[in-house]
Amino acid sequence: MSLTWILDLDNTLYPAASGLFRLIDANIQAFMRGLGIPASEVPALRDRYRARYGLTLCGLMAHHGVDPDEYQTFVHDVPLGAFLAPDPELDAALGRLDGRRVVFTNGSGAHARAVLGHLGVAHRVERVFDLSFMDYTPKPQPHGYHKMLDALGSAAERCWMVDDLPENLDTASALGMATVLVGAVPRPPHLLVASVVDLPGLLLAPSRTAG
Ligand SMILES: [Mg+2]
Repeated sequence: MSLTWILDLDNTLYPAASGLFRLIDANIQAFMRGLGIPASEVPALRDRYRARYGLTLCGLMAHHGVDPDEYQTFVHDVPLGAFLAPDPELDAALGRLDGRRVVFTNGSGAHARAVLGHLGVAHRVERVFDLSFMDYTPKPQPHGYHKMLDALGSAAERCWMVDDLPENLDTASALGMATVLVGAVPRPPHLLVASVVDLPGLLLAPSRTAG
């Protein structure tokens, strides 16, 4: 039975420094102002919704009747080509990860597929599991993880999950997956890499973390 690589998208397959996130963030704020929420109240409300629901969107769905497709189309309307370019190094690294490769993201599938296309790695990814697949119950809540494992027909013990947020990996680790944090600060028990392009090297030295 082959391994499955479960890859986060934002800040994992492309870096936070790309600047893209700031544009998406500005769109989220604009969307909320469009609902009639005063600009001065937007930051505190976002903090509250993120703390309670995990994502701004989930709070807007619960309290403002927001349609998730409408929200995601609006906030992801950014010029991806200005921020993302084909990444041959990433493409090669993903190609060296034996097994199935899927993307698991709290964003929309349309955004994920567009990003993968701009990075030139869409052909490396078998399937995208997005927020709608998770029934709008975002990572790190376990619901989406269980549903994804069912869909993959895979045991957690045969999966490697890769994410830039330790809390998302904590859930995966509790389920029995091997976990790799993309970042600079070690958070055991998760293995650590500075970049996803370092993942194939982890397999060559499985007892060692990149930190
Ligand atoms: Mg991320």
